[in-house]
Amino acid sequence: MMPEIEILEEKDLKIKFILKNASPALANSFRRAMKSEVPAMAVDYVDIYLNSSYFYDEVIAHRLAMLPIKTYLDRFNMQHECSCGGEGCPNCQISFRLNVEGPKVVYSGDFISDDPDVVFAIDNIPVLELFDGQQLMLEAVARLGTGKEHAKFQPVSVCVYKIIPEIVVNENCNGCGDCIEACPRNVFEKDGDKIRVKDVMACSMCGECVKVCEMNAISVNETNNFLFNVEGTGALQLREVMRKALEILRDKAEEMNRIIEEIQ
Ligand SMILES: [Zn+2]
Repeated sequence: MMPEIEILEEKDLKIKFILKNASPALANSFRRAMKSEVPAMAVDYVDIYLNSSYFYDEVIAHRLAMLPIKTYLDRFNMQHECSCGGEGCPNCQISFRLNVEGPKVVYSGDFISDDPDVVFAIDNIPVLELFDGQQLMLEAVARLGTGKEHAKFQPVSVCVYKIIPEIVVNENCNGCGDCIEACPRNVFEKDGDKIRVKDVMACSMCGECVKVCEMNAISVNETNNFLFNVEGTGALQLREVMRKALEILRDKAEEMNRIIEEIQ
């Protein structure tokens, strides 16, 4: 059976889906590709011209690096692959400028980008507060990178999965309800004089139900289905993150095939 994806819940910054008929290796590769291989933009270099705020230059630079940037993957080259030779050019980097004076709270939306489409993904993130007469003037340069290089380039803030088990309650069940008591996740419920599985998705496979069942009526088995929970930073649409991650995995697999063929 081919692996498939079934989307259960989808919001702007959150997606929940089932990866079916996949090996644990595929599930984990998919997770890792989304986290550390799909590129996103982040501030990587800051020129500070004037800073009379209470914050050190490096603290401000660090905060700027953490702000997610709306990323257009087809518009920018990875800097090390760019025709400029890594020098930095409009095809591989973008500048955000700021020139403000207190009293003022500086928000992510206050920065002026070279390209009106490429902006900080969320515009009301407070960066710092300037008090009366304090000034801040800087240019922040962002580029594409991957989570492998630095976590600031990750397009997802949460990317986790768990196995969706198969729970079988067989005919030995006498309906004592010990498993309902023992289960920390409320997986079981009473069904007449038997017990049935109410919420298989909640199961964490702790095995408490199997341990307490005196009739040996319950078995919890691993399957090839995985429940994924992914939260984005706003840099990319989550479907794009998934699509790009799968593309990366496919390219890696093709490369592997090619190498194997060469060896033979
Ligand atoms: Zn370039």
